[in-house]
Amino acid sequence: MRNINDAEIKKFDELAHKWWDTDGEFRALHDINQLRLDFILQRSNLTSGPVIDVGCGGGILTESLAKISPTNVTGIDLANRALEVAKLHARISEVEVDYRATSAEDLSIKYGDHFETLSCMEMLEHVPSIEETIDSCARLAKPGGNLFFSTINRTPKAYLYLVIGAEYVLNILPRGTHAYDKFIKPSELAACLRKSRLEIVEMAGMQYDPFRRTCSLNSDLSTNYIVHARKPV
Ligand code: SAH
Repeated sequence: MRNINDAEIKKFDELAHKWWDTDGEFRALHDINQLRLDFILQRSNLTSGPVIDVGCGGGILTESLAKISPTNVTGIDLANRALEVAKLHARISEVEVDYRATSAEDLSIKYGDHFETLSCMEMLEHVPSIEETIDSCARLAKPGGNLFFSTINRTPKAYLYLVIGAEYVLNILPRGTHAYDKFIKPSELAACLRKSRLEIVEMAGMQYDPFRRTCSLNSDLSTNYIVHARKPV
């Protein structure tokens, strides 16, 4: 099976020019970026080996990773225009990132057991098969490597906040960004991680306040959440 939803990729490509507008359609990703970067930094050493950002989009997190670990970061996505924006912005920011238009599945054929740190943020809810994406991520990681995933829980609260609230009331996300049935319960994500022989180290809730534009971590996994997993040695 080809684990790509072309309509999803097109959606992100059409908004390519908006990736770095901190008040635009991707503002929430900008607002939560420092929190997820800190989450990664507190749990892995970015300078100890190659780093990959899977589904990097316009490079919001990728650039932050590359500022800490220059020359070590790869960003992959299938939205070509998003990648063009990412490349251009990296030049402006003077950071070095190896951006590639490829999927985790394809890259894992050549780069198995390669990456010390892997992030895959806000992407799982856009792919046809999370099992397959997680399995490819597991293959990309080095034994002992750290993997980070973030996504959205499938709860009525998440539907209310992230679909109705963000897309229809506050208009801070483009309408149609999220499909409720693609949201992922933590138990489902955990089952996929275990199936791919990854150890779950931690799961934390990410609470985002779109009015104050602040976010924090806690134990409430009912909307956005972030996961730290490790590939056993
Ligand atoms: N990870 C980034 C962007 C999240 S938006 C961030 O959090 O800042 C989701 C991204 O996943 C989009 O750029 C989209 O093009 C990408 N994506 C969706 N399906 C994909 C697939 N099968 N392979 C690679 N990238 C994919």
